[in-house]
Amino acid sequence: MALRLYNTMSSQVEEFRPLRDSEVRMYACGPTVYDYGHIGNFRTFVAVDLLRRFFRQSGYKVHHAMNITDVDDKIIRNSAREGVSVQQYTAKYEKAFLEDSAMIGIEEPTLVRATEHIPEMAEFVAKLVEKGIAYRADDGSYYFRIAKFSGYGKLSKKDFSTMLDGARVDLDEYDKDSARDFALWKAPKPGEASWNTPIGPGRPGWHLECSVMSMQELGESFDLHAGGEDLIFPHHENEIAQSESFTGKPFAHFWFHARFLLVEGEKMSKSLGNFFTLRDLVLKGHKPSSLRYLLTSVPYRTQLNFTFDGLRQAAVSVERLRNFRLRLSSGNFGPGSNPQMQALAADTVSRMHAALDDDLNTAQAQAALFEMVRQANTAFDTGGVKKDDVPPLLATLAKFDEVFAVLDDDDVPKMKQVLDWAIAEGREKDISDALREAVQSGQLSDANIEAKIAEMKAARAARDFKKSDAIRSELADAGIIIEQTKDGIRWRRK
Ligand code: AMP
Ligand code: ZN
Repeated sequence: MALRLYNTMSSQVEEFRPLRDSEVRMYACGPTVYDYGHIGNFRTFVAVDLLRRFFRQSGYKVHHAMNITDVDDKIIRNSAREGVSVQQYTAKYEKAFLEDSAMIGIEEPTLVRATEHIPEMAEFVAKLVEKGIAYRADDGSYYFRIAKFSGYGKLSKKDFSTMLDGARVDLDEYDKDSARDFALWKAPKPGEASWNTPIGPGRPGWHLECSVMSMQELGESFDLHAGGEDLIFPHHENEIAQSESFTGKPFAHFWFHARFLLVEGEKMSKSLGNFFTLRDLVLKGHKPSSLRYLLTSVPYRTQLNFTFDGLRQAAVSVERLRNFRLRLSSGNFGPGSNPQMQALAADTVSRMHAALDDDLNTAQAQAALFEMVRQANTAFDTGGVKKDDVPPLLATLAKFDEVFAVLDDDDVPKMKQVLDWAIAEGREKDISDALREAVQSGQLSDANIEAKIAEMKAARAARDFKKSDAIRSELADAGIIIEQTKDGIRWRRK
């Protein structure tokens, strides 16, 4: 079966076929780095990560590019207010975003930054002016004339034909009712950062950044463009208008939008006190893997209502899977195999794959795995799992984890990083006892360390260097220093 995905452009679930054989080119709108990422942002980024991982599991080579929006209205305003350069202002949040992404198991895409592509963006505007699609206003800003693009509105399904030609909007974000000619390039206002270019001084609009960088990375037409549902209008509508006017070709073929996350049934907002960053949750003592599991437990097009109860349940689910794996890898089993267990493992792989093929039905994929765990656990207790059943059951878990990425027990070193960060930022008062206890009790025991080193040696002997390096870095993260001596491996705590 092939992957079927919902395409916002056609408003239908369609079979996914890449433009080039066996390669998927996908672009995701990345974070605006003016603050720490919140759990809503990570709902979308984790959904995109899961899609990327599933493409790979389905046999595609994946080129996944993502921008870092390091120029936009909020960044310009905040950096001017603090009297620092745009780069100085955004560096801290970009670093935090990358750390948080790694913490929640997101594989790093090819990153592109707006500040590193300003000349190409100015050139793009000049080309649109040449084509008569963009025009310069008196203050030196440039606007896109939406009346010149007949397809305007095709993604958001809104009829803009009666819009007043020539009325303008220069905010990066606005609602459908104020759709107007939008700013491609903004002339500097006093005190604002700007770049000198052949089209004059100024800075790119947010929409332009994504059009230019996505096409530069992936080509004029590529397979899939992703983001949260709020980006459908105006951001993605404007990207389509700019790109297709520029090239005369279809821009992205699939439009993938994750539904917004709510917190306890409400829109997340600082004023309601229900606004959480990933770090806020870890400071309260929750594991990053619990959040990743929770975020993937609701299919990306279904409303996800974040609750602390749900987060605790997710932690229990992850624990159950990890215990099951431990039971398989450390238990004693009678010889031979049980055809039922063999069939169960194979059937679970097919059911998980079929669920994900069905517009990424993550809930059903998880349910299929839990059904396997339930049946295998029952069989364990009656001696129904044999030695030769262990590899296929473990392989099924590994297949699941290629996409869901929650099985490796690396939460404690990640939580310790957040604890250290909070101390460095002078936020001791936000560190909960639960976090302190988790970090303390989760420090590796001597026996754990010896076991990991034995595993690392075995991986090396099997020439599985990826695995041995992973164990080595896991130990390093936990503050364990490994030394290779002539008598073999020695270790000590930092
Ligand atoms: P931003 O940093 O605001 O540009 O947002 C980064 C990504 O997070 C975009 O794809 C947004 O659509 C997405 N996003 C923002 N808030 C939420 C939310 N509450 N739920 C899901 N995705 C969100
Ligand atoms: Zn974008």
